[in-house]
Amino acid sequence: MKRTLILQAPAKINIALWVKEKRPDGFHEIASVMQTITLTDSITLQEIREDGIFVECDDPRVPLGPDNLVHKAARLFLERFKLPSALLIRIQKRIPIAAGLAGGSTDAAAVLKGLMRMYAKGISSSDLTSLSQSIGSDVPFVLRGGCALATGRGEILAFHEPPNPPFTVVIAVPKGISVSTQWCYQNYSPGDNKEKEARFGAVISAFRRRDLSALREYAFNDLESVTLEHHPEVAVIKKTLESEGKGFVLMSGSGPSVFGLFDDKKTAIQAASRLSPDKVDVFLEHTTRSSGL
Ligand code: ATP
Repeated sequence: MKRTLILQAPAKINIALWVKEKRPDGFHEIASVMQTITLTDSITLQEIREDGIFVECDDPRVPLGPDNLVHKAARLFLERFKLPSALLIRIQKRIPIAAGLAGGSTDAAAVLKGLMRMYAKGISSSDLTSLSQSIGSDVPFVLRGGCALATGRGEILAFHEPPNPPFTVVIAVPKGISVSTQWCYQNYSPGDNKEKEARFGAVISAFRRRDLSALREYAFNDLESVTLEHHPEVAVIKKTLESEGKGFVLMSGSGPSVFGLFDDKKTAIQAASRLSPDKVDVFLEHTTRSSGL
């Protein structure tokens, strides 16, 4: 019988992102505190009769061929285990595209987890890490999710207990803008690493003890200056969410999405209500303990 499996793939936010020097392999060395949230894409895996890996998506902006990270994940997995490729992958997009929320990476992580389940394949965690790394830098993190300190190019992970109780998270994405991660890194020039090291070191414990004022003082995203310079509407969103006064607000990844962490839903809704709904897509979410995959 042909099998079908449905998984929910979570977005991530970067509580802090420190971009260091460029490495010989072309990637930048980074340090980031990453956290999964309740905003998800829905991924359906379906065994089919026809040979091949087929991708469908409800958003026409998403590529359907080998460029889609779910295609790459499925191909690598099926090759690795010498399994027949006769698979349909349906993506229902909720995570904004090219917004700094790791949408493509999390879809790929869901495919790896789904295929492991579908074919009952035991795969060691080091094997899974190397397979997931070859798909994208954020894939190893979203496979497990929760909260982690990511170093290297984002694939060296130290997992931590996520904040408890969870933070309420407002995600605000300006309409009509997408930012290429590659473009953002290319336009970034590293600054004074000494000062950043001291600030970054304080972030993870501030986040876990839910200290929003310490986060406002120490946490930063090095890519913010690049994206904000080209897209001033992102700066407007930041200011608007900050004007409520009680949250911690930062751009996620290469943007243009901005997130706000709030202690409770009421404050989050108050802050989000200041954003203009015809210019900004807004999501009300919270931090999660794991990816749920
Ligand atoms: P990150 O935060 O990991 O840098 P992002 O959230 O900024 O990523 P994505 O949503 O992953 O960006 O999309 C970046 C590009 O990747 C898209 O413009 C699209 O062409 C391509 N892409 C490949 N697979 C997917 C997918 N499953 N969903 C969305 N985009 C995809």
